Amino acid sequence: MALDEIRARISAAETAAGRAPGSVTLIAVSKLQPEARVLAALEAGQRIFGENYVQEAQGKWPAWRGRFGGVGLHMIGPLQSNKARAAVALFDAIHTLDRMTLARKLAAAIEAEGRAPALFVQVNTGDEPQKAGILPDELAGFMVQLRDMGLAPQGLMCIPPEAEPARPHFRLLRDLAQAEGLSQLSMGMSDDFEEAIAEGATHIRVGSAIFGARQAAR
Ligand SMILES: *Cc1c(COP(=O)(O)O)cnc(C)c1O
Repeated sequence: MALDEIRARISAAETAAGRAPGSVTLIAVSKLQPEARVLAALEAGQRIFGENYVQEAQGKWPAWRGRFGGVGLHMIGPLQSNKARAAVALFDAIHTLDRMTLARKLAAAIEAEGRAPALFVQVNTGDEPQKAGILPDELAGFMVQLRDMGLAPQGLMCIPPEAEPARPHFRLLRDLAQAEGLSQLSMGMSDDFEEAIAEGATHIRVGSAIFGARQAAR
């Protein structure tokens, strides 16, 4: 299946970059995919999945988690503040911490739920006005604010501008993470995950290359 091919490509990219085998975590992005395809990936041993919509994830993952051990769920879509508590209850990682209001809601939810998902700060590496994420120039100040409120993100995440080569954005994200002492990098999707691995990605988010085209977003 396509999953095997993606795994082989990840291994090859790790080797080409002189990185340890298994140093890249594959997040299989299952949003808006038919259930049969996701089940096939679970049966093939895939355990880390990415979702974009809290409600959709709440609808399907509790049952699958009951059937398959060791599932890890990563929230990779924009997160509304009023869904912060549900997201903290369901997800093992949240990749889209992109504003102070959300940080406050997440901090309160972590306290209330007694569980703390890994956090990634989303960075708007292309300075795109319509895109979510902290601007590169504002990251250092944002990190200080997060740490003051007791949040300790593990890494950074980016979605490069569609019309530009991705690699310089991956490199920028890596440099920003290094400056902040963060070890995790969530970057690279179906079309560019090998370049992301070459620049140090620790988490790649791959959907259509594994599962095929998605249903249209609601
Ligand atoms: C949907 C999505 C992906 C997966 O995209 P593909 O091109 O299908 O691999 C990765 N990251 C984010 C943030 C997404 O929303």
